[in-house]
Amino acid sequence: MTGDFSLPPATAEPRLHVARRVLGLLKSVPGLAARYTEHQDVRTLDDLAALPPMAKDDLNTALDHLDPRAEHGATWLFQSGGSTGAPKVGHAPTGFYMAGVHAHWQPLDRTDVFVNAWGAGRMWGAHFLAAALADLSGCQVIALGSVTRAEYDDWLGFFAARGVTAIGGTPSVLQTWFAHARAAGLKLPALRKVLWLGEAWQPQLERDMAEVAPQARRWGMFGSTETWVVGTNTPDCPADTFHTLPEQLVHVGPDDLLDFTTLDPEMLNPVLRYRTGDAGRLVACPCGRPGRAMRVLGRRDSVVQVRGLGLHVDEIVDRVEGEPGVSRAQVVITERDGRAATVEILLLTAPDARDGAPDAAPDAERLRRELLSATFTLSTGFQHDPESFQVRRADELISNDRTGKTSRLVVREEA
Ligand SMILES: [Zn+2]
Repeated sequence: MTGDFSLPPATAEPRLHVARRVLGLLKSVPGLAARYTEHQDVRTLDDLAALPPMAKDDLNTALDHLDPRAEHGATWLFQSGGSTGAPKVGHAPTGFYMAGVHAHWQPLDRTDVFVNAWGAGRMWGAHFLAAALADLSGCQVIALGSVTRAEYDDWLGFFAARGVTAIGGTPSVLQTWFAHARAAGLKLPALRKVLWLGEAWQPQLERDMAEVAPQARRWGMFGSTETWVVGTNTPDCPADTFHTLPEQLVHVGPDDLLDFTTLDPEMLNPVLRYRTGDAGRLVACPCGRPGRAMRVLGRRDSVVQVRGLGLHVDEIVDRVEGEPGVSRAQVVITERDGRAATVEILLLTAPDARDGAPDAAPDAERLRRELLSATFTLSTGFQHDPESFQVRRADELISNDRTGKTSRLVVREEA
């Protein structure tokens, strides 16, 4: 069983006093205590694996009751998931645990000019976390945040003039920057480092980077507002593989579901076998760094109910993104009275398809017919109104203004 953990027992078990303290805290939470009555102690990795996993709602229940405060400095409240409704809240101390990240991962150094393009404000953590990393790196920082479409050209000119060497953001935001620069014929010759966090890496981004900034390489972080940064990678690692930090204990459970346990005594969120919904495996990384790395396989919560049947969003998006001329795809479900009235698949066209050969553009109607006949949920659910399932090309996908993320699934309520 211990083979399913990111750290060997000899390394992890001496640090399990943190997990024991968190267990004690969770036992004090009225809504959660009953789940832990049989679990008196956490001395070994087997003890840990026997604990019930936590979901996002459990963590929020615990934080509502515990209301933790940082030992030193401010306690920051951040949005923890939930793209709709009232914000759920995660806590972190100033510094955001980035000293531990910087000890193992230094993509930036004093010579860098770093554009922090993660959105700032709205209780979103990534901008501040990246700022803390920049602080530890001693580089120059341009704290940009998010900008509007009309501002890209001016800012890109400013980046070139300042000799910007590094930029960071969610892959969706980065892709907008690079696609815009590529379309406008703008180059960033000094740019060497692209930091990313918040979503899976996008292959189209690599192609746009090669045109705009041929020297640039990707540097990734994996984490969530609940766990904070769990692992990092370098240009020598596959984009889906991360070296986990010694303060983060990762466990692979049934169906490859990952859960995370903090071994950092400073951690304010009570993270004890916390599931983010991501699946993964522990693997040897081709970069050659010893120890096991975490390969992220995507999310296991990507099945959505459509007219009483399960629709596998990841399968559909992967299938559509494999079409020539499609750079990204998004499933948009519009609900009326709680029922899926329509399902649309939006296609973002690859720049190559836009620029020249019209043959390279995807045939939306052909794709629609193929998906409808090949997908049980669609053919059955839309048997009587097949026109309620559409595939169309779009100039842009629907993004969350707060996080800068563009998710594969958007569910809208029709007014
Ligand atoms: Zn590696």
